[in-house]
Amino acid sequence: MLIHKLPAELLEYQKLAKDFAAREIARVSGKHDQSGEFPIELIKSAWEAGLLNMSVPEDCGGLGLSCLEGAVIAEELGFGDSGISGSIEASDVAQRFVIEVGTAEQKQEFLAPLMESPSLAGYAMDTGIRAGRVFFRRDGDDFFLNGKHNAIANGGVAEWYLIKAYEDRRELAASGDASEQELVGGTYFLVRSGEDGLNFDHRLETLGKRAHVISSARFEEVMVPAGAVLLGTGQAARIYNQSLVKTYPIIAAGLVGVARAAMEHALKYSKERQTFGLPISSFQGISFMLADMAKDIEAARLLVYQAAQLADQGQSCISEAVCAKAFAQDMAMRVTTDAVQVFGGYGFSKEYPVEKLMRDAKVGQLTDGTSESLKVNLGRQMVTSV
Ligand SMILES: Cc1cc2nc3c(=O)[nH]c(=O)nc-3n(C[C@H](O)[C@H](O)[C@H](O)COP(=O)(O)OP(=O)(O)OC[C@H]3O[C@@H](n4cnc5c(N)ncnc54)[C@H](O)[C@@H]3O)c2cc1C
Repeated sequence: MLIHKLPAELLEYQKLAKDFAAREIARVSGKHDQSGEFPIELIKSAWEAGLLNMSVPEDCGGLGLSCLEGAVIAEELGFGDSGISGSIEASDVAQRFVIEVGTAEQKQEFLAPLMESPSLAGYAMDTGIRAGRVFFRRDGDDFFLNGKHNAIANGGVAEWYLIKAYEDRRELAASGDASEQELVGGTYFLVRSGEDGLNFDHRLETLGKRAHVISSARFEEVMVPAGAVLLGTGQAARIYNQSLVKTYPIIAAGLVGVARAAMEHALKYSKERQTFGLPISSFQGISFMLADMAKDIEAARLLVYQAAQLADQGQSCISEAVCAKAFAQDMAMRVTTDAVQVFGGYGFSKEYPVEKLMRDAKVGQLTDGTSESLKVNLGRQMVTSV
């Protein structure tokens, strides 16, 4: 049955994250948005508060939080600042792949150390052509990665990275047996930072979520032992589907937090700002906008809770997870844009908080499945299930 009221333990996690956002994140949010500086101090504070890498299983020293628990926390941290919480969220996303399909050895090797000090994981998934490609070739028990990826979450600040790579077809192509361009054998590798041949060369300057580090990296004969391959070669699509049910609700919840922040600012401002002798909240044009924000946020949150709960119960829920993320990312963009509208000209000014939230929301529609690609995904599921 779907949760309508969060149980006491979950309310405690929610309070912990809410207090952290109000006490720690709010203090430095503007500074990091301006400078784009990686919030290393905040990562340390989050670790001390027990809010870092919370999904790491108990036998690896973590709390083993469920997807629903992770989502409730992600909303509060996203409310605080989705750029700062983006680093925490990205680490959680990378871990959840290892938790879902990793071996006991991989979990001990890659997840347990994340609990020992303030440290992060990062990831580079399957992205568009412009994001670059990483290829692998096998040599005995080892794999060698080559290529480039232009958008690695926590790139350069994480302990290890989940990297998707494809079979290197250059030799086959040279002998005329294959096309070099064909992408086959999609495989996830766990690659440690500091490996020879792994070089982060450029940090992306971004419009929003500016504290979240996205970097490009070159892979030049980066050696990965067979023990750091997730599930085996050619398993990336299967792993992605299995893991997205646990990661999409978390990412979507962060966007619900961004939208909620925008709505709260818009509501407050609309009650203060007067035109024609009345607060603008008394005008239907504005109150309808606020009402739409409230109902869309509520709907997105329920989709998140539904998807997270089904995932926690081990039920098949790819379409629910995709619906939650697709709805939340478009909702967050709509709500933050309307919040700017409620503020009028001031909404466009950096002196008020809503322009930042609109910039932060935009990236939700572009990453971990663009709005279009999620619709393609849902449409395919609908057509093939008939
Ligand atoms: C700030 C930021 C952070 C990122 N973080 C990460 C990260 O952590 N890890 C990672 O792996 N990648 C990351 N990326 C890369 C991101 O996932 C890609 O940008 C995204 O997958 C889109 O790929 P693309 O930019 O090549 O767009 P393209 O594939 O060139 O698409 C361009 C446009 O066409 C649309 N489109 C493409 N195909 C179709 C279709 N079949 N039908 C309809 N519309 C279509 C797209 O939705 C998009 O609107 C990040 C990017 C940014 C900007």
